[in-house]
Amino acid sequence: MRKEALLRRGGALIRSWGRGLAEILYPEGAVCLGCGRLSDGECLCPACREELRYSDVLDSWQLRDIGGVPVWCMRPHRDLPRKLVLRLKHGTEARAAKAMAGMLRDRPDYFLHPAPGTVVTWVPGPKGRIRERCIDHGKRLAEAVAAELGLECRPLLIRKKNDRAQARLNREARRENLKKTFAPAERIGCPVLLVDDVLTTGTTARRCLEALREGGAEEIEVLTVTKAAG
Ligand SMILES: [Zn+2]
Repeated sequence: MRKEALLRRGGALIRSWGRGLAEILYPEGAVCLGCGRLSDGECLCPACREELRYSDVLDSWQLRDIGGVPVWCMRPHRDLPRKLVLRLKHGTEARAAKAMAGMLRDRPDYFLHPAPGTVVTWVPGPKGRIRERCIDHGKRLAEAVAAELGLECRPLLIRKKNDRAQARLNREARRENLKKTFAPAERIGCPVLLVDDVLTTGTTARRCLEALREGGAEEIEVLTVTKAAG
């Protein structure tokens, strides 16, 4: 009996190694990012592609507003879009960025038409996190969106070091300290499209918008893949 149990465990182990190996050995697009089944050369299998396409009946393509800046959100933060966001962020799956940007292809007419010359940029992540995960997911997503829209992509924001420990500051000083997380990377004279994965409270976006304006940006739009409830 013990031998059988061991064999079963061994089998499961080999299968899990097999799945891992398949992702390494097979060319890009062999394994679906959404469901893990074999795909047809695209990073999402036909069934998952269909799911992404038809989810637009479920309150997708939302337009929000942060201080007068239009914020375009492609999908609610659930199901497959949420899974893709997590795979890019935590699963270091760069292919997910392409799949998400691909959703722009069948956007409705009213949805996001950036002015010519618009530069796509992203929210710079903390350096430690980028090192740890070996992927700058914000940058990957912005690059994929820029490629999809035929626009230039470049870093317009820098994340400043927060050396002052938040805990030691009073409320007012804490707010001031947080305000200065981002700074413009250059003098900005072009329209800007700030891309992020998910819109939650909008606090980060708000801080980035302040920094972009400080750099001189006048025309700004924001695009996020998903919009969290609330
Ligand atoms: Zn699939």
